[in-house]
Amino acid sequence: MAQANVFQVALNTLNHAGKLGNIDSRVLEILQAPKRIMQFRIPLTLDDGSFKVFQAYRVHYCDALGPCKNGTRIRPNLTLDEIKALAIFMTIKHCAADIPAGGAKGGIQADPSTLSNNDMERLIRAFVRNLQPKGPWVDVPGADIGTGEQAMAWMLDEYEQITGNHCPPAINDKPPILGGSLGGEAATGVGVFKVLIRAASDMKMNVKESSAVVQGFGQVGSVLASLLHEEGCRIVAVSDVFGGAYSPSGIDIGKLKDHVAETGKVPGFPGADVISNEEIFGIESDILVPAAVQSVIHKGNAKDVKATLIVEGANGPVTTEADEDLLENGVTIVPDVIANSGGATVCHFERIQGLSDMYWDLETVNKRLEQRILKAYQDAVTVAREFETPSIRTGAWIHALRKLSKAMKLRGWV
Ligand code: NAD
Repeated sequence: MAQANVFQVALNTLNHAGKLGNIDSRVLEILQAPKRIMQFRIPLTLDDGSFKVFQAYRVHYCDALGPCKNGTRIRPNLTLDEIKALAIFMTIKHCAADIPAGGAKGGIQADPSTLSNNDMERLIRAFVRNLQPKGPWVDVPGADIGTGEQAMAWMLDEYEQITGNHCPPAINDKPPILGGSLGGEAATGVGVFKVLIRAASDMKMNVKESSAVVQGFGQVGSVLASLLHEEGCRIVAVSDVFGGAYSPSGIDIGKLKDHVAETGKVPGFPGADVISNEEIFGIESDILVPAAVQSVIHKGNAKDVKATLIVEGANGPVTTEADEDLLENGVTIVPDVIANSGGATVCHFERIQGLSDMYWDLETVNKRLEQRILKAYQDAVTVAREFETPSIRTGAWIHALRKLSKAMKLRGWV
C-alpha cells in the first residue's frame, strides 16, 4: 500500500481539530503552510574521491509563541513534505507542552551509513553555514534520525566559529560537556513511558500484567522498551528496520540490547521467532508503541491491530483513516504531540540552562519532565472530553490551536 503523505495527515488533523474547536479560520489559513522554507544544496567531494550534491531543508513552521526549534533529520529518501509535517508537529507539541517556542525541522537527503566521519562533519558544518536566520532567539536546531550528540557538537562549534561567541543555547541535543542537558538522550523514551503508565492507569489497565509490542529499537524504542520491561510488562515483539523478534512468553530487553550491540539488528534474537515489520501490527498484545517512522499504521492494517492502547513514540505513525478506524474500535491513542514531547521538553530545559548558565541534576530534569508531560496529557484529555471526542489527538490539537490563536490575535496577525 502507498504510504500516506505525512504532511497531508498533519493538515487533516489540523483542519479537523480547527473545525471542531471553532478556531478562527484566519489562524487555520496561516497554519496551512510554513512561515518560511529554506532549501539549499551542499556540494561535497567525499573522502572516497566521489562528488555529490546534497539537498537540504530547514522549515520554520510558526513562531507565534517563540523562536523556532528542533530536529535535524538525515536520511536517504527525505522529502520536504516530511520536514513540513515534522515542523508543524513541533509547533503543536511545543504549545501542548506549554513550551514558549515555535516549531521547526530540518534535514539533509543523505545516507549516513555511506559517509565517513569526516564527510559527515563537513556536511553538518555546511548545513549550519547555510542556515539563515539562526541563533537562540530565532532558530535552535536539535537532533533527529541520523544525527546525535556528535553532530550537534559540530553544529555548535560551527555556529560559535561564525559568530565568535560561546553560545550553548543556540543548538540543542549537545553533549553535556558542551552545555547539553543531563537526561536529554533518554528524554523522549522516558516521556513515552510516563505517559503510557498514566494512560494505562486511566484505562484501568495494569501494565505489570499486560503485554506490549514495540516497533523501532533506537533512541526512543529501546529506552521505552527497557523501562516497560523493568516495570514488569511482557514485551512480546520488538522490531527495527531489518524486521522483528517475536516471543509470546516475553523478550528480555537487556539481552536484546546486547544482541543488537553485537549483531546490529533485532531479528535473529535467540529464542524468538523472526517476523516482518508488517506482521508486528497483528500480534496479540494490550499495548502497541510505534517508535520508528511515520504512516506505518494505515487503512490496510489498522483492522489487524489487537492492542487497546497505542502510544505514539514516532511522529505521525498512524494515518488519518487508520486513526478513525482505531477510535471506532475503541482503541485509546496517545498522540505523538503528547507522547513523544519529552525530547522537546528537555530541549526546552537545555535552552533554559544554556541561557542561564545554571545546570540541573538528572533528578531535577526528570522530575520536571514528568510534571510537564503528564500535564500535557491531562490537558489534552480534558479538552477531548469538553468536545465529547474519544480522540486525545483532537483534544491536544484544539488545546494548542487555542493558544496559537490567542497569541496571533494579540500580535495583530489576525
Ligand atoms: P533512531 O534512528 O534512534 O531509531 C529508529 C529505529 O526505528 C531503529 O531501530 C530503526 O532500525 C527503526 N526503523 C527505521 N525505519 C524503520 C521501518 N521502516 N520499519 C521499522 N523500523 C524502522 O530514531 P529515534 O530517535 O528512536 O526516533 C524514532 C521515532 O521517534 C522517529 O519517528 C522520530 O521522529 C521520533 N521522535 C524521536 C525523538 C527523539 O528524541 N529521538 C523525539 C520525538 C520523536
